[in-house]
Amino acid sequence: MDILKKCSEFTAVKVAIAEGYYPYFTPLAESEGTEVEVRGRRLVMCGSNNYLGLTTHPLVREAGIAAIERFGTSCTGSRFLNGNLELHEQLEAELAEWVGKPAALVFSTGMQANLGAVSALVGRGDIAVLDKDDHASIVDGARLGYGTVKRYRHNDMAHLESVLAGLPRDAGTLVVVDGVFSMEGDLAPLPELTVLCRRYGARLMVDDAHGMGVTGGGRGTAAHFGVTDEVDVIMSTFSKSFASLGGFVAGEADVISYVKHHARSLIFSASPTPANTACALAALQVMRTEPERVERVNRTAARMRDAFRAMGFDTGNSVTPIVPILIGDDQRTFLTWRLLLEAGVFTNPVISPAVLPGRQMLRTSYMATHTDEQLDRVLDIFATVGRQVGLI
Ligand code: PMP
Repeated sequence: MDILKKCSEFTAVKVAIAEGYYPYFTPLAESEGTEVEVRGRRLVMCGSNNYLGLTTHPLVREAGIAAIERFGTSCTGSRFLNGNLELHEQLEAELAEWVGKPAALVFSTGMQANLGAVSALVGRGDIAVLDKDDHASIVDGARLGYGTVKRYRHNDMAHLESVLAGLPRDAGTLVVVDGVFSMEGDLAPLPELTVLCRRYGARLMVDDAHGMGVTGGGRGTAAHFGVTDEVDVIMSTFSKSFASLGGFVAGEADVISYVKHHARSLIFSASPTPANTACALAALQVMRTEPERVERVNRTAARMRDAFRAMGFDTGNSVTPIVPILIGDDQRTFLTWRLLLEAGVFTNPVISPAVLPGRQMLRTSYMATHTDEQLDRVLDIFATVGRQVGLI
C-alpha cells in the first residue's frame, strides 16, 4: 500500500479550482489593513482579525523596525536556551499587568501557547473538559497531553454540569473555553462557568484570542464579566488585536513556571522574533493610550450586526466584531463568497468541520479603522448579493 496514494486521490481541491470556487489561500497582492488587492481587484477586507487596525499604526511599525535594527531579524533559538530577550520578559510583565494576573509567558504563536499549556497542565490521570466549539489549538493541546478529553455542547451549562458531576473526584480537571468563540462571535458565559468549576473542584482556562483588545475595554472577556480572579489561566494571541505574531498565557506564578518548564512547544521551538515581540509591546501601549479604538471597533460591529439583521440576514448570537452570516449549506456559502468577492468584499467561507453541519457561514469581522464609507459599501454589496442568492 502506497502511503502517498491518498494524495493523488484527493481531488476536491482540483475540482473546486477548476470550477472557480476554491476560496482558500487567496493571495493578497497588497494590504493596507481595511482594503486589500486580490488579482488586480480592490476589496474591502471583512475577514481579518486586525480588530484595532494596528498592523499599520506608525508606532507599531516603527517598533518592529527599531527591534530589527537593535537585535537583528531572529533569536535563532528557544527562549529556554539562547533565545530569551529582556524584551520578551518586559512584554510578559506588561501583559500580566494588562490582564490582571501575577505572571505571563510568551510563546511564538497562539497555537503553540495552547498546545504547550494545555498539554502541560492536563497530564496522565487528568481530564480536559472542552466546549464543542473550542478552537482547534485547544483540542490539539488536550490531545497532545496524556489526560482524558471530554466535550460538552456549545455553551450548554446544564450539559457541562452533567459532565463535571460524572467525573471521578480524585482526577484533576481543567475546563478550557474560548472567551469569544472564533467563528460565531458569541461569548462563553464565564460567570456561570466559574461557579460550576468551583462547585466541582475544576480549574478554568479561557482562550481570549478574539477577546483581548476588544472585550472588557481591551483587557478581555474575564475583565468584561468581572471574573478575572476566578479564571485560573488566561491565554491569548498576538496575531489579532496585537498586530503581530505570537501568543501568551497568564496566571499565578507557580502555574506559569510549571508551564514554562513543561511546555514542549515553548522549549523546543524558537522564540518570537525581536520584531514580533516589539510590535506586540507597542500594540499593548497603543491599547492603553488610544482606548477610542476599542470603542470604535465595538460600535462598528454593533452597527453592522444591526444593519445585517434589519436586512434579514441571520447573524446568530454574535455580540463582538466577529459577525457570522449564517447560510447553512456548502454550495450556497461558496457561491455567496464568490459573488461578494467579485463585487468588492473579502469574507471567509466556513464549512464543516470548522462548524457543525447546518452552521455553514460567511465569517465577517470588523476593524476600528474601517471607514463609514467602506462599511456603507459593504452593506450595499451584501444587500445586492443577499437578494441574488435568496438569503434575504
Ligand atoms: N485560539 C483561537 C480562539 C484562535 O482563533 C486562534 C487563531 N485563529 C488561535 C488560538 C491561534 O493563534 P495563532 O494565530 O497565534 O496561532
